[in-house]
Amino acid sequence: MKTFDEMELIAPVRRALAVAKYTTPTPIQAQTIPQALQGRDILGVAQTGTGKTAAFALPVLDRLARGPAKVERNRPRALILAPTRELAIQIERSLVTYGKGLRLRHALVYGGVSQFKQVRSLERGAHIVVATPGRLLDLMNQGHVDLSHLEVLVLDEVDRMLDMGFLPDLQRIFSQLPQGRQSLFFSATLPSKILELAGSLLSDPMRVNIAPQSPCVERIDQQVMFVERGEKLRKLCHIVQSGPANRVMVFTRTKRGANSVAEQLERNGIRAAAIHGDKSQHARQKALNAFERHRVQVLVATDVASRGIDIGDVSHVVNYDLPSDPECYVHRIGRTGRAGSEGIAVSFCSHAERRELHAIERFLGRSLSGGEVPPAPSARASAKRGRRHLAGARHRTEGRHAGDGDKHSYPPRRKRRFRKQRRHAGHSTS
Ligand code: AMP
Repeated sequence: MKTFDEMELIAPVRRALAVAKYTTPTPIQAQTIPQALQGRDILGVAQTGTGKTAAFALPVLDRLARGPAKVERNRPRALILAPTRELAIQIERSLVTYGKGLRLRHALVYGGVSQFKQVRSLERGAHIVVATPGRLLDLMNQGHVDLSHLEVLVLDEVDRMLDMGFLPDLQRIFSQLPQGRQSLFFSATLPSKILELAGSLLSDPMRVNIAPQSPCVERIDQQVMFVERGEKLRKLCHIVQSGPANRVMVFTRTKRGANSVAEQLERNGIRAAAIHGDKSQHARQKALNAFERHRVQVLVATDVASRGIDIGDVSHVVNYDLPSDPECYVHRIGRTGRAGSEGIAVSFCSHAERRELHAIERFLGRSLSGGEVPPAPSARASAKRGRRHLAGARHRTEGRHAGDGDKHSYPPRRKRRFRKQRRHAGHSTS
C-alpha cells in the first residue's frame, strides 16, 4: 500500500490523516492496517518512532465508527493498555487527532491522580478506554469497568509492561476478556516470555516485524564522548548552546541526578525542567508541556520518560549517565529522529561506565566509539597538563563527533593521584 487512500478506511479518518499531513503509511502501518481492518489479530514487533500508534489506532477507530454509535456506561468497546501515564496520554491525543469527525468518546485511566474524573467519563460511556494496567484493575475491582463487551484489545509496549512488573495485573485483566475479540499486540522485543503471553491471547495473528537489523533508528547520529563526571555539565551546556534551535532531552540514571542537572542548567542560564517518577502527575505534565511549547530548552528525565513520549523536533538526546540496560539506550535515543527527521544522540561515558558502553555496543552489534580507546596520559600529568589535554580532546571531538579521550585509561591508583593533583589545582572532580 502506497497511500492511506488505498486503504479501506472510513472517510472521516482519511480526512483527519490528510489534515495531520500523513500521506504515506510507514512500513508498520502499510503492513498492519489492511489486515487489522479485516479483523485479524496482529503481533507487531516495533519500536516507538515507527508510527505504531496509528497502526493500531486507525483500525480501532474505523471498526468502532462502523459499529453502533451507542455505548453502555462502564462497558468500553475497545481497550488500549500502555505501560506509562505519559504513553497513555499520548495515545489518547493520537485518537483525538485521527478520530476527528467521529462521534467516539474516550476515557483515560491511569494512576497517581484522583479517580473521580476517570470514573465519571466511564459512567458517561466511553467507546475506547486508554489505560495503564494498575489503575484499570483497580477500577474494574470497584465495578467501574466491565470488559464483557470488549471488541478490540490493544497492548502497546508489552515488553515494557512486563519490565515494570505488570504481568500479574495483566493476567487478571485478561481473565475478564470475552472470547471472539480482536487483539493487537505490540512490543519492541519478543523474548520467550512475551511470545508465550502473545500465544495465550492472540488467535492466528499476523506477525509483523519492523525492528531493523540493528535496533537503532538509522537516521540518528550516535556519538560517544569520553568524559568524567565532573566535566559532564560543561559538555552538556556546550551541546545545548551549540545551536540556537537545539532542543535537548537528557537522561540521568537517578531522580536526584535529574533534579540536580536541571537545577545546574538553570544556574547556567539554560531553561530546563526535570521529569521523573517522584514528581506528581501534574508536575510531570507541566514539565512536558513546557518542553513541548518551547518554554524550556532542555528536558531532563529518568527512564520512566524514555518511552512513549512523542515530542517533535527533539534535536539531541544526551545520555548524561549510560543506562545499565542496553535496551533502555535504544528507547532513550528514539526520542530524537522521530517521523523522518534527523537526530543526534550523544552518550557521555566516564571511566566507570565503560562496561555499560560495551554492553550497549554488543547489543547493537557495532561500535559507537569507533573502537576508540582513550589514550593514557603519562603518570606525570600535572593538573595543568590535564587541562590542556582536555581542551585538545574537545577540539578533536567537535571535528569528528567522537570521544574526547581523556583520563580514563588511568589505573585506579594513578587516577586517584591525578584527581588529588587536580583538586590542589582547584578543579572539581566530583
Ligand atoms: P509513533 O511510533 O506512533 O510514536 O509515531 C512516531 C511519530 O511519527 C509521531 O509523531 C507520529 O505523529 C508520526 N507519524 C506516524 N505515522 C506517520 C505517517 N504515516 N506520516 C507522517 N508522520 C507519521
